[in-house]
Amino acid sequence: MRAARYYGRGDIRIDELPDPDVGPGMVGIDVAWCGICGTDLHEYLEGPIFCPTHDTPHPISGATLPITLGHEFSGVVYDVGAGVDDIAVGQHVVVEPYIIDDNVDTGPESTDYHLSKNMNFIGLGGRGGGLGEKIAVQRRWVHPIAVSVPLDQAALIEPLSVGYHAVDRSGVKTGDVALVGGAGPIGLLTAAVLRALGVTVVMSELSPLRRQKALESGVADHAFDPRTTDVAAEVRRLTGGKGADVAFECTSVQIVLDTLMDAIRPRGVLVVVSIWGKRSDFDMHKLVMREIDLRGTIAYVNSHPATIELVESGKIDLAPFITGKIGLEGLVEEGFDTLIHRNETAVKILVSPSGKDL
Ligand SMILES: [Zn+2]
Repeated sequence: MRAARYYGRGDIRIDELPDPDVGPGMVGIDVAWCGICGTDLHEYLEGPIFCPTHDTPHPISGATLPITLGHEFSGVVYDVGAGVDDIAVGQHVVVEPYIIDDNVDTGPESTDYHLSKNMNFIGLGGRGGGLGEKIAVQRRWVHPIAVSVPLDQAALIEPLSVGYHAVDRSGVKTGDVALVGGAGPIGLLTAAVLRALGVTVVMSELSPLRRQKALESGVADHAFDPRTTDVAAEVRRLTGGKGADVAFECTSVQIVLDTLMDAIRPRGVLVVVSIWGKRSDFDMHKLVMREIDLRGTIAYVNSHPATIELVESGKIDLAPFITGKIGLEGLVEEGFDTLIHRNETAVKILVSPSGKDL
């Protein structure tokens, strides 16, 4: 089989590899579609970050470079290992792509397995990836999906779960007003979850094309350009002077964080969804004087079942967020290059590792 493997900064190669071994407790998946994520771009441009190096193996997976990339994927089961009796060949599935120590409780009641020591992701920390034609994944991390969900849209369930967990962290309620800072893939998908839950969504975004996507896809009720509009004043106007109940920071840009702080109501909850590569110049005085809750959120924890339900029930339509489809050979030139240099029009570019359905 063919797979896109990361050898280090600026070095991704398409390699011929043996098919994975579908051992006991494992599920063999023919990958249908795999999304390219901002995390993959960071590995390519600045890494290795999540990826191990050539000489230091990941403590759980044991993998060193090169590693197969891709953690946002859907597929069809082609084989199951010994002991797997609740999933069948032909089943459509998505993967919750965790690499977590065997001693960690990852049961349905756990709320913190994603925060366990040395946690990493399939497709970044080893154990194969969605940018290969086939992958074998532990049954625990495989989630069946209804055949009514197209497999291309299903590849977006992983980033949608990031949005779901962020929304869950906020404690937002139906009828609340949320301000989302940044209409990149995660901002848009967070907004999609909010709208599905009956929350009014206001979006702040510099790019006119991204604002248009937010409005046309129906995930935002209002979308403002923070250079020409006083977003905090607009939010207060829309909420009778009160301010947003919750806010989601999806850019890792200081001025966006400041805007959200100004737009949120006293005792509101501000969730930081983006990964900050630098320290923030945060206005602690505002946080204290208005009793604002500042919360972090990372990835997801037991979020896939509820996220899949939102998609299967039709409450979230992921089709508008697929803006490109390519084969493995176009990964760097068409995929990465578009997302790095022309990301205004691109939301999610999907890769078909086998080239099927392109
Ligand atoms: Zn991702």
